[in-house]
Parts: sequence; C-alpha cells; structure tokens
Amino acid sequence: MADKPVVLMPEDIQRIMGKDAQRNNILAARMVAEMVKTTLGPKGMDKMLVSPTNEIVITNDGATILEEMQIEHPAAKMMVDIAKTQDSEVGDGTTSVVMIAGKLLENAERLLDKKIHPTIIAKGYKIAAEKCQEILNEIALRISPDDDLILKQVAMTAMTGKSAEGSKEKFAEIVVKAVKQIYHDKKVDLNDIKIEKSKGEGIADTELISGIVLDKEKVSNDMPTVVNSAKIVLIDFPLELKNPEIDTKISISTPEQLQGFLNQEERTIKEMIMKVKETNANVVFCQKGIDDFAQYLLSKAGIYACRRVARSDMEKLAKATGGKIVSNLSELSSSELGNAELVEEIKHGNDSFTYIRGCRNPKALTILIHGGTGHIIDEIERALRDSLGVVSSSLKTGLVVPGGGAIEMELARRLRIFGQSLSGREQLAVEEFASALEFIPSTLAENAGLDPIDVLTELKSKHDSGDKNAGLNLFNNKIENVLEARIIEPYKIKTQAISSATEVANMILRIDDVIASSGKKSGMKGMPQMSEFD
Ligand code: ADP
Ligand code: MG
Repeated sequence: MADKPVVLMPEDIQRIMGKDAQRNNILAARMVAEMVKTTLGPKGMDKMLVSPTNEIVITNDGATILEEMQIEHPAAKMMVDIAKTQDSEVGDGTTSVVMIAGKLLENAERLLDKKIHPTIIAKGYKIAAEKCQEILNEIALRISPDDDLILKQVAMTAMTGKSAEGSKEKFAEIVVKAVKQIYHDKKVDLNDIKIEKSKGEGIADTELISGIVLDKEKVSNDMPTVVNSAKIVLIDFPLELKNPEIDTKISISTPEQLQGFLNQEERTIKEMIMKVKETNANVVFCQKGIDDFAQYLLSKAGIYACRRVARSDMEKLAKATGGKIVSNLSELSSSELGNAELVEEIKHGNDSFTYIRGCRNPKALTILIHGGTGHIIDEIERALRDSLGVVSSSLKTGLVVPGGGAIEMELARRLRIFGQSLSGREQLAVEEFASALEFIPSTLAENAGLDPIDVLTELKSKHDSGDKNAGLNLFNNKIENVLEARIIEPYKIKTQAISSATEVANMILRIDDVIASSGKKSGMKGMPQMSEFD
C-alpha cells in the first residue's frame, strides 16, 4: 500500500508552478497592455482587425480590440474582462484600465526581484487603491445637472482622437441633450436611447430624433407615407397564409378543391385584417411576415405597416407608444394599441426608415448615425456610446476630474507622500502603484511624438508646486491647466479603472500554480513562451 503511487491528476495535464507561473501570467498581462497602448489618447493610432471570415473592424477602442483578438491565455483573458467591465460600468476608459493593470504587474515584477512576497505587494496595492479613492473624492469637481457646458466638454473629451472628432461639437450636443432627456432621479437607462445607422449621407447629418426610428420601409407603396395621430398595433404573429409547402400536406384533385382551399385561406387573412381594422388602428408593426394579400388589404384600409420588425425594436415600440405586443389574434383590441403623434416613412440614400415621433413616453429617443461606409458608422457608434457613457456617468455621480494625465499625476504625487507613513515594503508597493498611474500621461506624450521623460518631469514639477490641474493638452502639446483647456473626464472612469486594475493585478500576483487539463489545451496554447522574457 505504501509504495503505491498517489495519482492526483491525469498524466496529460499541463502544469506551471511557482515563479514560472507567476512570470508567465505577468508577461501575458503585460503583453495585452502593450498591445493597446498605442491607441491611447487623442493622438493614438487605430487598429485594423481582420476576422477569420475576413470581416474588418477598424477601431481605437480598447474593449473592442481585445474582444476581436480572441485572446486565449487565461491571465490575458482576465485583462480583457476588466476592459469589458469598464465598458459596461462607465462606457469609456477601456484602454486606460488595461494599461494600468499591465503596468502594476510590470512594476510588481521589480518588487518580486527584490524578494518581496506577492501578498505584501498585493496588500500595498490595495492600500494605494483605497487611498486613491479617498483622494479622488477629495479633489473631484462637483457639477450640477444643468452644467451643460461641462457635460459637453466631457462628451467631447471622450470623442477626441476618434473618427467622430470632426463633428464632435454636434455629437456632444446630441449626446448631452439625449442623456438629459432620460435622466431622472439620478438614474439613466441608456437602453432608452436607440442607435440606428444609415449608410449614405455624411456623419455631420447624424440626428437625434425624439421617438423611435426603425430601419424598415412600409411594406407596400400603396400605403400612406405619413400617418398623423397614429394608433399602433404591435403583433408578433405573421399576417400570412400558411405556407402549404412547409406546414402541411394537402391533396387536391380538382380545380374546385384548390379554389376552395385558397378561398378558405383568404377568408382567414381577411378576418385577421378585419380584426385589425376594428380596433381603429392605422399603423401595424409586425414582428413576422405580412404576405401580399394581407398587404393589399391593409393598403386598401389605409393602414401603414412594417414587417419583420426585430423583437428588441418591438419592445422599444411598446415602451415608447404605450402599446402591448399582441401574440394572439383573439387578444387584439383597441385597448392594446399604442399612440404616437406621427408615423412617417423617410428615405435616406437608398434606404427607407420609419419614424415614430411624438410618442407617449418622452424618454424614447433615437440617434440616427449617418456615414459613408459601414466601418465609419461603426466607429462613430463606438465613440457615441463612449460619449453617452461618460455623460450619464458624470450626471449620475455629479463629479468630474481633469483629463490629459492631470488626475493621474496628482494621485501619484499624493500617494508618494502618503506612502512615507507606511512600513518599508508596503511603501515600495505604493510607490510602484504611483508610478504605474504615471504610465497614462507618459503614454499620452509618447503617442503624440513627445518625449515622455521631459513631459513627466515638467508635470511633476508643476504638481509639486501646487498646480493640481496641470496636464498634457494635446490640442497644443502644452503642459497647462487642462480644466481651462476643457479636457474633462468623469470621476467614475478613474475610480472604476483603479479598482478593477488593482483587483486583476492582485489576483494575477497571487497565482503560483496553473493547472490546465488537456481537454482545455487552448488554455495553455495562448501562453507566451518562457524565451519571450527579456
Ligand atoms: P480610453 O479607452 O482609456 O478611454 P482613449 O484613447 O479614449 O482611451 O484616451 C483617453 C485618454 O486621453 C484620457 O487619459 C484623456 O484624458 C486623454 N485625452 C483626451 N483628450 C485629450 C486632449 N485633448 N489632450 C490630452 N489628453 C487627452
Ligand atoms: Mg476614451
């Protein structure tokens, strides 16, 4: 019994332990940060990502890049996750969060080399992160919901350097107006804002519509193009004849039988449309199909109809118009109808859209993005979503901070002073944390072709002499008061980024054993080779 080998795990398991595991994970995380670094800031570059099916995405958005890259390494995946969290929590700052986490880990390596235990480093980082939150609470600027000018500047800062930049004034106006319209009781539900896209006109034609816009045309040319005082039916069952080829088999031996069958089907459709007419509706949005005969009957009744409306749009329509989505003909009655002042079809380029304006719910909004190509429209959409995120976050917290690296410099300075009150090893960790934050201003400088060391030195001396809003203004490449230069970001970008970056860095630091079962080879496949260490 005693000489029997103890088998814990199957033989084909892959395992990396101790220092190797740690360094391997750190390297992978650093590689992720290194990868997105060049896109940071207004002078950052874009990346072109080509999928296995040759679809192309051109973007400068950290979360999108990482998502498209299909990263496999487990530690690197954790970095991708914090970018996603940043995106869902704030909507912006995805590149920054990954960069800070990568730098925290890189700096941790220096401490590991000095034989400082990972748990001490993690503790120091945690203390530093908490101190940052405290400092942020102290120095953030309070704004009121009526500070439209500041909100617009926050919106514009998020768009600087993206394809949206050319029209950022206009976009900022749209974004602020939209968010303020749905802001209530310190709450904002960005799902109330529908984003629709139209290829053809220029991005400057992008518009905010109070109401819902569907990328659908009316099903028949004989229907009215404009309906005033719309009474709207929302149905999610088809208005069509049953397709005999698919659904059923019928055997017909005489022309009369065929006619009889068709008459029967026609009667069913007629009854359906009669039911719709009885409700006094003049608009029908149908989630499924509407066949020729039903179209004919609807047109004859002067009813405007769209078919194959997406489920998500049906839900938005219900919320906007106060109507109910009816799944069963027998439930259809006038009490289920929605209302809007106007439903009309409008053509943009080759495509027709249905506008539903003057909805019962004033929070129903649509931003219709116009643009020359799909790639541009998609990148504008990402910039707009960032911008919607930062404005709503600024409204919710009522707090903003200076951008251009100013806040990071000030946090670093105060952290270093604070660190002096700590014991030796923790102090070192807090110092490394501070220098990780400086990675943001130094990269902003580097990406703009400036000397990062010169920039950091000048920033440091300004902050030391009490200029807490000194940052790098990349509109004129000067180091100056960035609040005056109107480079402003939401407080939440920074609090979220610091807490997620610290969490992931500490989590990766604490791992000293990676065990990958062979069934999940991919888990190890993405691991960098040890030879990649420098
Ligand atoms: P992220 O994905 O982290 O939001 P961005 O590429 O959007 O990355 O860059 C954000 C950084 O760019 C922030 O640190 C912000 O303060 C900075 N920034 C934005 N506009 C300017 C500007 N005009 N001058 C200097 N820095 C700016
Ligand atoms: Mg950004």
